[in-house]
Amino acid sequence: MLDPAAIKHLVVHCSDTPDDEAIGAREIHQMHLGFGWHGTGYHRVITRTGDIEMGRPDYWQGAHVYGHNEISLGVCMIGRHTFTDAQFNALESILKHWLEQYPQASICGHRDFSYTDKTCPNFDVASWCASRGLKATLPPPA
Ligand SMILES: [Zn+2]
Repeated sequence: MLDPAAIKHLVVHCSDTPDDEAIGAREIHQMHLGFGWHGTGYHRVITRTGDIEMGRPDYWQGAHVYGHNEISLGVCMIGRHTFTDAQFNALESILKHWLEQYPQASICGHRDFSYTDKTCPNFDVASWCASRGLKATLPPPA
């Protein structure tokens, strides 16, 4: 069970699937079941058309950022290299909603955690946040 007051990081991911593959939360769920997990590791999934699909409920600890799952929520943009305007608009609305519910939290990208070599979500979350007037804070070095 995630303690709402403990949520520090709102972590942006990508699915690292081909940009022309129109998958969604169901396929991510299948993929993560295949990893031997309890289904999808994210809390929200944003399809290529900008639809917001549910992953785990916010109170259920995610599986998306190693070592930090107990203090974070994860949202996954479907795609790899480029994302659609509709996806970025959906991302903004999810993050704004989360910041209202978890005002102590801040936004970052998966790759901003020092433990990982991943490039996920393949765009600079901090500068994107700045362009939308959202506050992003890099996680401290682990
Ligand atoms: Zn990721």
